[in-house]
This record gives sequence, C-alpha cells and structure tokens, in this order.
Amino acid sequence: MKERVTIIGGGLAGCEAAWQLANRNIQVILYEMRPEVFSPAHRSKNLAELVCSNSLRSDRLENAVGLLKQEMRLLDSLIIKSADINRVPAGGALAVDRSEFSRYITEQIENHKNIKIIRKHMNYIPEGPVIIATGPLSSYAISQAISDLIKEDYLYFYDAAAPIVDSSSLDLGKIFRASRYGRGEDYLNCPMSEEEYKRFWRELVNAKTVELKYFEHQNIFEGCIPIEVMAKRGIDTLRYGPLKPVGLIDPITGKEPYAVVQLRQDDRQATMYNLVGFQTNLKFPEQKRVFSLIPGLENSTFIRYGVMHRNTFINSPAVLNKYYQLEIDPRIFFAGQITGVEGYVESASSGLVAGINMSHYVLGKPLVDFSNETAIGALAHYISDRNIKNFQPMNVNFGIIAPLDRKIRNKQQRNLEISKRALNKIDNIKASKIVKYG
Ligand SMILES: Cc1cc2nc3c(=O)[nH]c(=O)nc-3n(C[C@H](O)[C@H](O)[C@H](O)COP(=O)(O)OP(=O)(O)OC[C@H]3O[C@@H](n4cnc5c(N)ncnc54)[C@H](O)[C@@H]3O)c2cc1C
Repeated sequence: MKERVTIIGGGLAGCEAAWQLANRNIQVILYEMRPEVFSPAHRSKNLAELVCSNSLRSDRLENAVGLLKQEMRLLDSLIIKSADINRVPAGGALAVDRSEFSRYITEQIENHKNIKIIRKHMNYIPEGPVIIATGPLSSYAISQAISDLIKEDYLYFYDAAAPIVDSSSLDLGKIFRASRYGRGEDYLNCPMSEEEYKRFWRELVNAKTVELKYFEHQNIFEGCIPIEVMAKRGIDTLRYGPLKPVGLIDPITGKEPYAVVQLRQDDRQATMYNLVGFQTNLKFPEQKRVFSLIPGLENSTFIRYGVMHRNTFINSPAVLNKYYQLEIDPRIFFAGQITGVEGYVESASSGLVAGINMSHYVLGKPLVDFSNETAIGALAHYISDRNIKNFQPMNVNFGIIAPLDRKIRNKQQRNLEISKRALNKIDNIKASKIVKYG
C-alpha cells in the first residue's frame, strides 16, 4: 500500500507540497475549505489564489527572490512552472495573469493520479502524517487547533492589498507607457505635477480608514505598509517610495515628473491594472474619491478595492526545525506563510521543502538540509533559528544566505556569485539523487 499524507490548505504552499509528494508516488489528501468557507481575502474557488499583487517579484539572479525562483525551477516547482507559463509583461519581474495562474495549478492538482482534493473546512488536525499550510488567514477553528498542538503563542500582524482598475476606464491621454530606466514599456505611468501631488497627499492623509476590529494591536509588516500610513510619515515620503519618479521621463514634457503612480498589468488581456504599492486600508468610497485624483484615473472603474487583513504565523524558531517539521510531533510539518516566511514565492518554497522532506519522512529516508548557501535553505534555516528572539516574518534576501568565503566589493557581482554557488549546490543535491522522484 502507498504511503499517505494529509495536507490542510490548498494555497501556494499546500499545492507545492502536494505536487512534490505526489510526484514521489505518495498518496495525498488535500483539504481546502473554499468554496465552503472563504477567508476575507480569497475570492475564487481555484487553488493557489494570489490574494493581492499579481507579481512574484524580480526574476533576476542578482536579486534573492530571482535566485529563489530559479532554485525552485530546478526542483520542478509547480508554482513557478505555472508562473512561467502564465506570465504577463512586467519589466524584470515575473508577474502573472492571476486567473490563468491558479486555474493551471488547480487542473494539475485535480488531475494528478496521486492527489485527492476534499473541499472541506478542517477544524482539527487529523491522525497520521500531516502538512499544515492554512496560510496567513487560517480559519479561527484551525488556528485554535494549532495553538493547542504547539502550546506556543500565535503571532500576527496586518497585511494590506492594493486596488485594481479597469484599463478601459483609464484616460490614456494623460498616462504614458514605460519601465524605469528605459527597460521596456511594461508599466502605465500616471505623472503628477507638484500641485497635483500635494493635493493628492493632503486628501490621502486625511481620508477615512476602516476600523480594525479583530485585535487590539495594529502591528503592520513594514513591507506591506498601507499607502496612507506611509504618507503620514511626511509629505515627501511617497516621492521616495512607491511614487518615486526616477528613471521615468514623461514624453509630453520630456522631463521627469514630480511624482509618478505606476500601474501594473494584472491579466493577460491587459483589461485590469493594479496600483503599484497602493496597499490600503481606506474605506471603499474614500479609495474611489482619493485615488480618482491621480491623473488618468479621474473616471476609472475600480474592479477591486484595496483591503487590509490579519496575518497569522507561528513562533517557528521555538517549534520547527530546518525541515519545517514540528519538533514535538515529527509526523507534522508546517508550510507557507504560517511558518513566518513572507511572500508568495517564499511560501511556495517552504511548501516545496516540506513536501520533499515529508516524502522522506514517510519513506524512512534521511531528511534533506538544503543548506543556508541556497535561498530555499536559508529561509528554512532562518525560520528555525533558535537564536531569534523577537521573530518577525521574513522575505528572502541575501542577508540570510551564508556569505562567500572571499570578499567581492561590487554588490551586484557579489550577489551573482552567491547565486552561482547556490545553483551549483542545488544541482549537486539533484545529482546526488537525494531528492529524486519515485
Ligand atoms: C491580504 C494579503 C495580501 C497579500 N499580498 C501579498 C502580495 O502582494 N505579494 C506577496 O508576495 N505576498 C502577499 N501576501 C502574503 C502571502 O505570500 C500570501 O498570503 C500567500 O498566499 C501565502 O501562501 P500560503 O500557501 O501560506 O497561504 P494561502 O495561499 O492563503 O493558502 C492557504 C489555504 O488554506 C485554506 N484554509 C485555511 N484554513 C483552512 C481550514 N481550516 N481548512 C481547510 N482549508 C483552509 C485557505 O482557503 C487557502 O486556500 C499577502 C497576504 C495577505 C493576507
């Protein structure tokens, strides 16, 4: 009889883990609560839904998330495969058509001979080998079950999502196409004069926000800070952040504008664009009122307004090891944002490591340490580092990857060397057959 693993949560991490297990001939039962129950951010019944941005960020090897994706490609990641197939233009970034992206993953999982999907809200942790991948918006019932299991504090903060507008409602007479520094034409840019910017800023900082009800504290992850919170730090903060004009020349004036709002294509047909960096907690009518002050968006139709949500994660350094395995109960692994990795790609990468290691666990083989010389391994080492006291979610970055044994002054060159070493390491792990299929 085949070994069998239960996965709770059919998001980015759960799907990647299921794929890795099923391709190693392990039987997978995947529980997904949608469409029976929806989190506040999920909208569709497809698996692996991208709840906010449609970008999986940089695809360059001098960027750590570019390295992470390349390592995952080498390890046959389903999430990265779908992203590559469903990519839309976004300069040096890997952005996707969000519906096609999750539709492809859903089909691959549904049609895999070793995977059975059960659409059910789980409020307990079942017997046998289990991967818990219920994400940052884990239902309250499963959060309680996890809390009882790990006997450690749950942690949380707030995350915010950006609005999306209908491209046919944009005033293209005011907007120009360009990527920064002449690297293509992938973004729509809304240029602002000093007067337009100041008016926009004034309305933004005084706009009404939604009251946060669920928790007393408002702990916001710096990388997802709402635009209105950032604006309140100072009148020019946005001009050095998401509205920075550098590298963008307005063809009408021939000059760099005072500030620029960028719009990124959100689907393959280019019918939808998201407002880059505009994660927000403003009330919906306020979003319509204030964001319509952006030149070119005066009459825009908002397909989705920005929202702000709880983000839940466990105190991983106290309870998990570098295989994403629960120390006090080794039949249980965690994967995804709930482990404190931050971001779509990072979540999927932890699903990949948890899936491979769960297959080794059930087959009685030694678990695989991906080493902190790789981006995949560095994340696993980071979330299980016993020395970390005030654990906070972490995006992949070169700072958590082991340094080279020689000094290279030029940062870009140094990062490329780290990437080269990491990719060699992954090749060696593959060649040693310790992560082979079947
Ligand atoms: C509002 C918001 C915006 C975000 N924006 C971005 C962004 O723009 N870019 C980025 O890189 N990251 C973003 N993140 C962070 C994170 O990368 C994503 O949330 C990512 O989807 C996490 O992957 P995951 O697999 O861990 O969780 P998810 O993709 O959320 O998957 C978890 C799955 O588990 C299911 N589930 C939950 N509880 C149960 C249960 N009890 N029983 C059965 N099924 C259950 C859910 O329905 C869901 O399908 C955002 C997070 C939030 C909350």
